Amino acid sequence: MARVELKNIEKVYEGGVKAVHGANVVIEDQEFVVFVGPSGCGKSTTLRMVAGLEDISSGDLLIDGERVNDLPPKNRNIAMVFQNYALYPHMTVYENMAFGLRIRKLPDAEIDSRVRAAAKILSIEMLLDRKPKALSGGQRQRVAVGRAIVRNPKVFLFDEPLSNLDAKLRVQMRTEIAKLHHRLKATMIYVTHDQVEAMTMGDKIVVMKDGLIQQIGSPLLLYDHPANKFVAGFIGSPPMNFLEGVIEGGTPLRVKGEGFSFAVAPEHRDSLAAHVGKTVSIGIRPEHMMIAPREQEDNVINAHITVIEELGAEAHIYMSRAADDSENLIARVDQRHGYKMDDTVKITPEASAVRYFDGETGRALLGVIGPIRMSSRRQAE
Ligand code: ADP
Repeated sequence: MARVELKNIEKVYEGGVKAVHGANVVIEDQEFVVFVGPSGCGKSTTLRMVAGLEDISSGDLLIDGERVNDLPPKNRNIAMVFQNYALYPHMTVYENMAFGLRIRKLPDAEIDSRVRAAAKILSIEMLLDRKPKALSGGQRQRVAVGRAIVRNPKVFLFDEPLSNLDAKLRVQMRTEIAKLHHRLKATMIYVTHDQVEAMTMGDKIVVMKDGLIQQIGSPLLLYDHPANKFVAGFIGSPPMNFLEGVIEGGTPLRVKGEGFSFAVAPEHRDSLAAHVGKTVSIGIRPEHMMIAPREQEDNVINAHITVIEELGAEAHIYMSRAADDSENLIARVDQRHGYKMDDTVKITPEASAVRYFDGETGRALLGVIGPIRMSSRRQAE
C-alpha cells in the first residue's frame, strides 16, 4: 500500500539550473503513473527525488502521508529499475537478484524463496545461473525488474527501462510490465520520453516540459482534451495537425485561415464567442481529417497528396495545402481509400473534434466537453 504525493516539489541544481518547478502530483495506491516529456524536461530528476537519489530543493514528498524528504533511499521502501539495468557483471542472475536482500541480512531461505518466486513471475527461472553477459537485452531487463520485485517495495520506479531494447521487444516488455502491475497491484511510477509508452501503460499521465507540469490526466483525457498546444502536439501518433486561423462572428461561428474556412461546431460556440477576431491555432487529429466529396465547396481545406503510407488496416495520407506548400497535413484513413500520390483532395474536419488553442499562449480554448463524437457519415464508412 503506497500513496505518493509531490507537493510543490522543486529542484535547483548546483549552478542554478532549475530542473523542476513546483510539481504537484498525487500518485494513488496501486496506480501506474507515467511521467512523459521531451529530453531535459525534468522527468528523471523528479523520479530521482522520489527515490532519494537527488535532494529535494523545496516542497514536500509524502509517502502514505509521511514526509520522507530527509529519509535515505534505503529507508523509503522504493525500488528503482534503471535504463542501463545496472546489473553486477561478475554475479549470476540469482546473485544479482539476491544481492539487495543479502545486504539487508534476510535469512537465506527467505532470499531463496523470494528470488525463485520473482524468477517465476518473469519466466527467467532457467537463467538463474547465468551471468549478465550471457543474456539478451530483454532478459537483462527482466533481471533488473526481478531485482526490484524481490524487495517487495511499496513503490516501483522505472527510468526509461525499455529504451535500450529493439522496437519489437519494447512492445513486448511494455505489455509485460503492464501485466506485472496488474499482478503485483503495486504503485508504479514510470518515466519515458515515448508518448506511445505513456499512452499504452499509464493509468494517469503527467506531461512535462521545461521543468513544468503541463497536464495530468488519463490517456484519453489528454488525447481528447489537451490543456494546451504542446500536449496536443506531443500526445498522439501521427501527431495532431495544426493550422492558423481567425474566429469570425455570425451563426455559425466560422474559423478562417489562408485558403480555407469552416464552420465551428455548435457546441464550441460558447467557448469561442469571446475570441471572435482573434488568431487561434486549430488542432485536428489525423483521424478527424475527413476526405470530402469533390463537389463540396464549403468547409474544406484544399490539399494535394505528397505521400501515402499503407499500414495494412489503415493508411496515412500526407498532404500539402494548396495555400501553403510548406505545410504538411496528415489524414488517417481506411485501407480502402483509393487515393494515389499527387491527387488533389478536399479535407473537411470533423467539426466537433476540432480543438482550438490561443494563438499566443497555446492554452486550450474549449473546456472539457465530454467524449468526441463522430458524425454518422464517418461511422458508416
Ligand atoms: P529528463 O529526464 O526529462 O531528460 P532531466 O531530469 O535529466 O530531464 O534533466 C532536467 C534538466 O536538469 C536538464 O536541463 C538537465 O540538463 C539538468 N540536469 C540534470 N542533471 C543535472 C545535474 N546533475 N546538474 C545540473 N543540471 C542537471
